[in-house]
Amino acid sequence: MTDLTLRCECGTLQGTVKNVSPKTGNHLVCYCDDCQGFANRLDAGGKWLDEWGGTELFQLAPAQVDIHQGADQLRCMRMTPKGVYRFYTACCHSPIANTISRKMPFAGIPTTAIHGDGKEAAFGPVKCYVMGKFAKGTPPTNPHPKFSASSLMAVMSFMLKNKIKGTNVPTPFFDDQGRAVAKPDQIER
Ligand SMILES: [Zn+2]
Ligand SMILES: [Zn+2]
Repeated sequence: MTDLTLRCECGTLQGTVKNVSPKTGNHLVCYCDDCQGFANRLDAGGKWLDEWGGTELFQLAPAQVDIHQGADQLRCMRMTPKGVYRFYTACCHSPIANTISRKMPFAGIPTTAIHGDGKEAAFGPVKCYVMGKFAKGTPPTNPHPKFSASSLMAVMSFMLKNKIKGTNVPTPFFDDQGRAVAKPDQIER
């Protein structure tokens, strides 16, 4: 278990992601069009994506995330009206977290926002490559076109375990009423 630093590119937003280990979270790469759309809105040059349009994420529980400074920089985007709440920073347009709601013990943190010694060992190897049907070209990682059974199992067991532990809170991403801490941007497609 390792505590790592959560930080936007410019360093205005800083925090900690606690107890990171291959057992406490899921390490995956998502090629879906919404992850790509989000990343491209933040940086049209594709800085936040790998060359196949993938986003590397470490999924953990909101209670494992503390923001110590710059929380006022958090902004939110939903790619569809009912889509996940995707948080980023106003200061430097860094992606920070993908979340579902206050009740769901789930935060997918782009690994570009996580820093610190031992980061790779704390994440462990990537467990799954998902939504490959949206990938650009042919990634050598051979992603599943959607979600493999094992990737679904990994997320479901993670959710169940954390629901029992109640680690959906405290959360830096939703207020007590369950509203996102920043009003989601309206996306026009
Ligand atoms: Zn920043
Ligand atoms: Zn995605």
